Amino acid sequence: MEIITDLKEAKELRKMFRNDGQKISLVPTMGKLHYGHLNIVKNALKYGKVFVSIYVNPLQFGPSEDFNNYPRDIEGDIEKLRQLNVDCVYMPDETITKNNKTFITDDFFSNKLCGLYRPGHFQGVLTIVMKLLSIVQPDFAFFGLKDYQQYILIKKMAEDFFMDVKIMPVPIVREECGLAMSSRNLYFNVTEKEKACNLYKILNNTRLLFKKGKTLSENLKHFAIKELIDKNFTVEYVEIMDKELIDRKKTAETGDIILSAVKLAGVRLIDNIFLE
Ligand code: AMP
Repeated sequence: MEIITDLKEAKELRKMFRNDGQKISLVPTMGKLHYGHLNIVKNALKYGKVFVSIYVNPLQFGPSEDFNNYPRDIEGDIEKLRQLNVDCVYMPDETITKNNKTFITDDFFSNKLCGLYRPGHFQGVLTIVMKLLSIVQPDFAFFGLKDYQQYILIKKMAEDFFMDVKIMPVPIVREECGLAMSSRNLYFNVTEKEKACNLYKILNNTRLLFKKGKTLSENLKHFAIKELIDKNFTVEYVEIMDKELIDRKKTAETGDIILSAVKLAGVRLIDNIFLE
């Protein structure tokens, strides 16, 4: 397994794989890898040579967010990726974003949902993903559906720039209690983590209400928000949208998605569930 920090070396390796006729996959992460990440890597390995990038991207954190405290574990991450037989761990040094003056901005999807609560976040995400895609030039780039809005934005960016990369979605991996795995779950103590599990339970109960015939979004959202508040979450949003995130739905339909962001004990959690 190659471990690379220098972008020229990353490009050299990509060229070598290409000259060998290999397909290349990229899995961007911010590290402190859990099974949600490793499951994405396992999927990527089916498609050819795999680059996993690890970079806590300062461009996507707001001034009052947790960039400095974000969990990091380079040694542990490398070991996990070695066991999976990944081809390259690419850990860009800070020059990848330092003094950056060019940004990728979306003017539609970024104004909704998480974008409203994290100004500049998606600009930071799109900019780093564009950089990684330019360096690695993968055939496939893999993203988890936990960050659903991020996935839609990246897919749209790749389309809008006619990029020769297929954006590959990977389902959410959850803990036994339903909580979506996240590096940030490490911020919770045991009691807080138990409470955090209620987020998924409430989204799932909302989905079940839909299944029983309640289709008015206002009613479904009202139910979810009330339950979340009862369980001590601070609610940023609960929305029901079509799966391309174009419109808020008045009447929910099968195939739509419920998306939510909440805070518990100062930790921001996002989750989503499809209506079926
Ligand atoms: P992060 O390290 O949080 O930036 O995440 C890197 C990638 O892993 C992103 O595409 C995330 O959507 C994805 N990811 C993180 N947690 C999960 C999870 N529980 N299930 C599926 N994908 C995930």
